[in-house]
Amino acid sequence: MNVPDNVNFQKIFLQQIKADWLIENNVELNVLRLDEIHPIISGTKFFKLKYYLKDAQDKGFSAIASFGGAYSNHIVALAFACRNAGFKSVGIIRGEKPKQLSSTLLNAKESGMQLHFVSRIDYLNKNNIKQNFKNIYWIEEGGYGTLGAQGASEIIKCVKDFPQYTHIICAVGTGTTLAGLIQTSSSNQKVIGVSVMKNNYELQQKIQQLLNKKDRKKSFTVLHNFHFGGYGKCTNKLIDFMHELQQQHQLPTDFVYTAKAFYAAKQIIINKIIPSNSRVLFIHTGGLQGNSSLPFIIIIS
Ligand SMILES: *Cc1c(COP(=O)(O)O)cnc(C)c1O
Repeated sequence: MNVPDNVNFQKIFLQQIKADWLIENNVELNVLRLDEIHPIISGTKFFKLKYYLKDAQDKGFSAIASFGGAYSNHIVALAFACRNAGFKSVGIIRGEKPKQLSSTLLNAKESGMQLHFVSRIDYLNKNNIKQNFKNIYWIEEGGYGTLGAQGASEIIKCVKDFPQYTHIICAVGTGTTLAGLIQTSSSNQKVIGVSVMKNNYELQQKIQQLLNKKDRKKSFTVLHNFHFGGYGKCTNKLIDFMHELQQQHQLPTDFVYTAKAFYAAKQIIINKIIPSNSRVLFIHTGGLQGNSSLPFIIIIS
C-alpha cells in the first residue's frame, strides 16, 4: 500500500516518562508515540488497515467501505488510506446527517469518502446495509479482524529493544490492536489492555478469536474499571489528568482512548500491580483528532 502523504514513520519515537511516582516504585515507563505518524490518521488505525487494503487489492476490489460514528478515528483513517492507495471509499455513518459535519467527517469527505448516514436503529443491522452496495470490500467497524491484528502486530517493529520490556499497555476498543501485540510478545511479557467501554466483558473472547492456537496459550489482561463512564464519555478528573500529562510531560492524549489507558497505567504502577524493577512500554495509539468532539460532549462531574 502506498504511504499517505505526511505519514512519517521516522517521526515515531520513544518517550521516557520522568516522574516521582515512577522513581518511588522503581519502574521505567516509555511511551511509543504513534500519534506522531500523522495529525489525523490515528497511529494504530493506520497499522490495522494495511492488510485489509492489500486483501482488497488482491481480490480485485476498487472500493472499500466500513462503519463508524461522526468522530471515528477508523473512518477518517480509512478515507485517507484509500485515497492514497487508489481505492474509492464509503463510510456508513451512525445517526442522521447533521446540519454541519464534524471535522472528522469533513476530513474524510475531503479525502474523497462517500458518506452514507443511517439511523441509529438501522445501523444495528449491518448485513442489511451491506446489501445496498455491490462490489465493495467491507471492513468491520473499528477494523476488527485477523487482518487488522496482523497489521497491528507490526507496531512493535518501531521498538528496537522490545524484548527488554516486561509489560506492554495499550487502550482497547475492539481488541484488535491488543491481539496484534499479544502475537508479537513473548510469553514472559505481560500484555495489558485498558477497555474504554463499560462492561465490555466479551472482549476476552473477541481477542481470543483473533489469535491462533499457539498465541491463545499466552495470558493477557483486560482492565475494565478505567472507562470513565463509558465509550466517548469523559469526566472532569480525566480532563485534569490530560492537562497534567501535557504540562508535566509534554504528552498529548485523547479523551476517548489514550488518556484513559495512561491513567490506568499510572494507577497500576502506583498500586504495585506492576512490580518494582519493571520496564513498561505504553503504546500511544494516537487518536488525537477525536478531541475535536470535546466541545460537544457533556462532561460528567
Ligand atoms: C481504535 C483505537 C484504539 C483501540 O484499538 P482496537 O484495536 O479497536 O482495540 C486505541 N487507541 C486509539 C487512539 C484508537 O483510535
